[in-house]
Amino acid sequence: MIAAKDTVVHISYVLRDAKGEILDESSVEDSFEYLQGHQNVVPGLEKAVEGRTVGDKIKVSLTPDEGYGDYDPALLRKVPKSVFPAKMRNPKKGEMLQIQEDGVWRVWTVEGTEGDNIVLNGNHELAGQDLHFELEIHGIRVASKEEIEHGHAHSPGHHHH
Ligand SMILES: [Zn+2]
Repeated sequence: MIAAKDTVVHISYVLRDAKGEILDESSVEDSFEYLQGHQNVVPGLEKAVEGRTVGDKIKVSLTPDEGYGDYDPALLRKVPKSVFPAKMRNPKKGEMLQIQEDGVWRVWTVEGTEGDNIVLNGNHELAGQDLHFELEIHGIRVASKEEIEHGHAHSPGHHHH
């Protein structure tokens, strides 16, 4: 079986930055599975896996536009604390908030507070970075109807809903 849209792909990977530092990794035992063709992973990774098969080892380097996008300075914002509900007015640095704006949900990371403002960063932490992936494909299966409807893989031992 080959990796194509609506298949669930089990991979292990090591992600390094330009200096060779490990940013993220997942071993075989982590059983990281995702639904191919549904933007569950960055575009360049989907492209690299498409058409490949179990046992394939893939080494791929992605520019930001194939990864988490360019760093956008406009996504660094100061937002008055008063617009947040009382319990959210003193967030900790590094806390993530999901906020809907113009109908689009985005994850914002709290950079800190400045006076009466909360400083939020809507860039992904890996935005603007080249990503160097080494991965191996351990399994490929046809996704269930439910997984395709939900747009993500339902892996054993992971959350269910
Ligand atoms: Zn689901």
